[in-house]
Amino acid sequence: MGRVIETKHTHDVLKSDLVRKVKSAPPCVLASVAIGDQFSSGVYLASQERLAREIGIEYRRIVLGKDTSLSALREALDALNRDEKVTGICVHKPFPPGWKEEEVFAALDPRKDVEGMTPWNLGKLFSGEPVFLSPTVRSVLKVLSLVSPDLYGKKVTLIGFSTLIGKPLALLLGRRMATVTITHIATHERGDLPRFLQNAEIVISAAGVPELVKADWIRPEAVVIDVGTGRKDGKLCGDVEFERIQAKASAVTPVPGGVGKLTPLFLLDNAVTAARRTKQEK
Ligand code: NAD
Repeated sequence: MGRVIETKHTHDVLKSDLVRKVKSAPPCVLASVAIGDQFSSGVYLASQERLAREIGIEYRRIVLGKDTSLSALREALDALNRDEKVTGICVHKPFPPGWKEEEVFAALDPRKDVEGMTPWNLGKLFSGEPVFLSPTVRSVLKVLSLVSPDLYGKKVTLIGFSTLIGKPLALLLGRRMATVTITHIATHERGDLPRFLQNAEIVISAAGVPELVKADWIRPEAVVIDVGTGRKDGKLCGDVEFERIQAKASAVTPVPGGVGKLTPLFLLDNAVTAARRTKQEK
């Protein structure tokens, strides 16, 4: 039986560090923007807000109507950019069909972009000097440091190639000398996922498709990191067949209780960094 990588202990340690950090930081106000009152983002925002309060960060939840236009959202973001009290902004996906996420994130002031999604922050990441790294990516890197700290030459297969998760991971893991294979929806549609997973020593899945990754596709003793947060029978669940993969892999993260438990902490940590940088610039 493989190890289940629970992150509760790591979460508690990071949380106490963050409480200490906030005490010596300038006032930190995080604006969190979502479009439409969707169940999944609603639950996510509520838990972020609770955690922010516990840690001592002011959290402003802004939910715009589901019929909001892209230009209205950009105007709302611009107002937050100009609001001197607001030190960090995050904008939650999913967006209405047809929107290009690049057009949303380009409207953010890079100094307040705590998810690292603006062209400026992506450029810094690409050039090897990230300022704000996606909180989800920070969570995955933290989990990897617990189970597989040495990545030199390791065969890593990523499922998902989004700007928030897959792309930065491909870059960062490659920079740490892992041999990275990128897969996505087209790989799946061609029936090639099993082939690209069977040799992987580490699988990181961020597709958002419940039980996409089958135990039969996984190499024995692989490390499997599940970033996906889908819903099955009304319950939160990841991308992998958890029990069957646990029996075969050396380690696997649960959903909930794995990567996603750390992500809000890294978001708030980025928010503190943003507040500090704003203060230094004044
Ligand atoms: P996204 O929609 O921007 O990207 C999804 C990626 O998965 C795309 O590259 C797509 O090609 C790929 N994909 C979709 N279906 C696939 C399939 N059947 N086979 C292979 N690849 C497939 O989403 P995102 O923002 O990158 O989020 C991905 C998942 O991670 C979602 O479930 C999201 O809720 C979750 N998420 C988790 C955390 C966390 O902390 N655990 C944080 C953010 C997002």
